[in-house]
Amino acid sequence: MARSSRRTRAGSHRGDRPSIVLVLAGRALVRGRLQPVEIAIDDSGRIASIGKNRSGGPRHDVGDCVILPAATDMHVHFREPGGPSEAETIGSGTVGAALGGVALVGDMPNTRPPVTDLESWQEKVARIEGRAAVDMLVFAAPTDPRALPSLARHAGGFKVYLAPTTGIDEPPSMEEVPALWERLAELRLPVSVHAEDPTQFSADRPPSSPVGWNAVRPGAAELSALDRMIRSPVGLRLHAAHVTTEEGARKLRGAGLSFEATAHHLLLSDRSGTDARFKVNPPLRPESERLALWEAFRRGEVPILASDHAPHPKDTKELPFDRAPSGVPGVETLLPLMLAQVRAGTLDLGVLVAAACERPARWLGQPHGRLAPGHRAHLIVVDFRERSTVSGAKLASPCGWSPFEGWEVVRPRELYRDGERIVDAGEFAGRSAGKVVRPEYALGEAAGTPSPTL
Ligand SMILES: [Zn+2]
Repeated sequence: MARSSRRTRAGSHRGDRPSIVLVLAGRALVRGRLQPVEIAIDDSGRIASIGKNRSGGPRHDVGDCVILPAATDMHVHFREPGGPSEAETIGSGTVGAALGGVALVGDMPNTRPPVTDLESWQEKVARIEGRAAVDMLVFAAPTDPRALPSLARHAGGFKVYLAPTTGIDEPPSMEEVPALWERLAELRLPVSVHAEDPTQFSADRPPSSPVGWNAVRPGAAELSALDRMIRSPVGLRLHAAHVTTEEGARKLRGAGLSFEATAHHLLLSDRSGTDARFKVNPPLRPESERLALWEAFRRGEVPILASDHAPHPKDTKELPFDRAPSGVPGVETLLPLMLAQVRAGTLDLGVLVAAACERPARWLGQPHGRLAPGHRAHLIVVDFRERSTVSGAKLASPCGWSPFEGWEVVRPRELYRDGERIVDAGEFAGRSAGKVVRPEYALGEAAGTPSPTL
């Protein structure tokens, strides 16, 4: 966690203007157009100023390459503690994030044991310190009412599962949900919700393909659960995870609630593959539904992009469909897949940056995600002329597979964490000095979790 005193505000520069440690020159989006810019980064790892002819520190000129804020992926499952190490660790997961241009991940609580009280939160944080390549925000599951006050002073957010999923067998019933919202509203942390109503699932036949899985857990189950969310109390900072239907997106927008769509629900349909590598919760939808969600995303009507990175071991995804676990890896491919869409002319860069970088960081109360003075210098450098394809075997995740095998991607060349280059020429080349962060608007102080201040 410690950073060298040279780079902290409490160091030798106390009282002085912070000194410039790097001037990054390249092109960036300014008022919707790519223009030459220079970004001066100070010794606290913040953006000091943006403009032309910055001076005062060593210069790094990336020429025609594009400088963007690094992304935030607010929905990952790194499987620690308790997961099989051949699937993922916090170390491999955060390196994959860095290589994919992601500087902050929101890690979900359905580990073994799940993060449901202070003790399990501390166990996870102890695993993060010194091992995470990028920052992590730790979500907790509000399953134990007695643990909520202490969790609210430490965790980064709450995750509520309205349907059974990996590691969560007993979600609250739909009748219990209103009281849960009331309790969470007092705690002032962001709340992400897995919105599927299990009473709308059908169990007629064991599913044998993604088409069958969509029939078992239909879009109607999502819409039913979203209706519960929309009736939540004012003041609850609520966000729907992995929305799969355009109608759901429209409802949430109308209610002013935050939500995300995943790369797999935006780019894959229930006909993209026939085996369990394409089994996810909620399921991949028919092509017409996927296309409607994609068009909404392209119009900027899906506020947040996330991966729901769930790196199951390859052998478990080779099981018969009905016995295989649900979930796909995605933190490393999330932004590169979408940057390839930008290069192809099918997605606007400004729309992507808002959904992948700006809004998720803001929703989680973090001072980054925009090229703005005072923001932490979590930045990436992208060369749109460099194209490559997804190879599961080459991902940082030891799971070794991807539902996007062979898809074209644009990988960031460089990633800066607090102004320090940790990805260089597309390779991880930094320290594992990621921090555990909490929303700046959260209540109270948490020992051992430095919360960034502007
Ligand atoms: Zn998830």
